[in-house]
Amino acid sequence: MSRVLVIGGGISGLTTAFTAASRGHEVTVVEARERVGGCIGTSRLGPCRFENGPNSVQGKAPDFRQLCKELGIAEAIVPASPVASDRHLYFRGRLQRLPTSFKDFLATDLLTTGQKFRAVMERFVKPRPAGHEETVAEFFGRRIGRGLTMTLVDVVVTGTFAGNPNRIGMLSAFPEIVRMEQQYGSLLNALRLRAAESRMKEGRREPAMVSLTGGLQTLPETLRAKLGTAVRTGLSAESLVRRPEGGYGVHVRDAAGNVEELRADQVVLSLPAERAGMLLAPLVADAADLLFEVEYASLVVAHAVFPKEAIPGLPVGFGFLVPRCMRMRTLGWMSTSHIFPDTAPEGLVAMTAFLGGVLDPAAIDMDEGQLRHLLLGELALALHQKQTPQPLQFRLVRWPSVLPQLTVGHARRIEAVRALLAAEVPGIHLAGNWTAGPAIERCIRAGRATADAIGCPA
Ligand SMILES: Cc1cc2nc3c(=O)[nH]c(=O)nc-3n(C[C@H](O)[C@H](O)[C@H](O)COP(=O)(O)OP(=O)(O)OC[C@H]3O[C@@H](n4cnc5c(N)ncnc54)[C@H](O)[C@@H]3O)c2cc1C
Repeated sequence: MSRVLVIGGGISGLTTAFTAASRGHEVTVVEARERVGGCIGTSRLGPCRFENGPNSVQGKAPDFRQLCKELGIAEAIVPASPVASDRHLYFRGRLQRLPTSFKDFLATDLLTTGQKFRAVMERFVKPRPAGHEETVAEFFGRRIGRGLTMTLVDVVVTGTFAGNPNRIGMLSAFPEIVRMEQQYGSLLNALRLRAAESRMKEGRREPAMVSLTGGLQTLPETLRAKLGTAVRTGLSAESLVRRPEGGYGVHVRDAAGNVEELRADQVVLSLPAERAGMLLAPLVADAADLLFEVEYASLVVAHAVFPKEAIPGLPVGFGFLVPRCMRMRTLGWMSTSHIFPDTAPEGLVAMTAFLGGVLDPAAIDMDEGQLRHLLLGELALALHQKQTPQPLQFRLVRWPSVLPQLTVGHARRIEAVRALLAAEVPGIHLAGNWTAGPAIERCIRAGRATADAIGCPA
């Protein structure tokens, strides 16, 4: 049996710990806060339920589903309402529905005829030979043209990274899309073939997103319950040393200032990149320097509860996103209770707004009054309401330096860090949303891969 110490009790660390423990390792998780889950946190505001961080798990999410199955909570998976597939963009002064079919695409006012033609011609654009990594803006600009890139692709990058499409690296952030181009020659062809395959396999459409009964916090809480006393909260890892007899020692400090050394044969760093770098600096300075290069975006989340009649212009659906070219500061408003109707009682609408990101770093430091005024004023503008809608309840959640930016070269940087660790400090592993991307599904997949790297106990 080997002792594994996981530092950081977010979804990446907990998944690694649970998988390693299931394989027979003696696992300990140390988490700086009193609660587990990191970015994942469900809370109540008045009669409504909100997510402070992630709202849902997107797509088919096979790793999320598998983990829920192993934890015995597969029954708790809640699909989003079908109305959630109706998404809107605030574009040229009004909310416009995003096309969901080819017919819609031809009819939409979001794009000019020239832009639509350019997008349809995507199938004739030759793939670019592998080599230097393109930014997201370069890749999609080349394949579907600038018009679509500045509207649809922009909001995807905002929604995933609160990032800048001119800096996020295609191979680092969206490697599966680059592979689609290489394999099928065109994204349109790939999407058509894949849609046909999945229709044949499943015969039904999977929901676009899912959550859990009681909110996403159910996942880290269940992982904590399964891991039992192996999870130690309120302990911050301060330093990492090599032990003369082999293995590693990690010094942890509690809120009262008491320091303890925990020993392990293998250590998993599943805390933010910069903090992982700080722990590694005395042992492998080159790896630490690479981790210090990982940039982060800050985000402000606002929760608001409205009486239904206060927002008559709100379309039923997912909510709306705002491409940066529209010059609003709000990144988007999500209609939380349209997506998951059990989050608000009849007659009320629970809504979540996002502000900040790499292109608006000042937002995180604005005071509550300014943020409220700005968000509700821009909501009134988007809904074409003369009166600013007044929520019954309103609250802000600030997330400083929370979303890692997988900029050009990121994947190569992480590969280089892994190679340095394997050569100089074998038994130290990486997990965390900065290794493979911030989506929960990717964190779970990366956590399982880290458990594979830990191996089976001798
Ligand atoms: C506002 C917001 C909205 C999001 N929306 C979505 C969404 O809708 N869908 C989706 O899939 N993803 C979403 N994400 C992304 C996703 O939530 C995160 O990428 C993911 O939860 C990160 O998990 P993690 O374990 O890698 O990191 P974290 O959750 O950051 O966990 C790291 C943990 O390490 C701990 N720690 C730090 N330093 C120390 C130390 N020295 N010692 C011990 N512990 C330490 C921290 O306290 C923390 O608990 C969103 C994120 C945010 C912030």
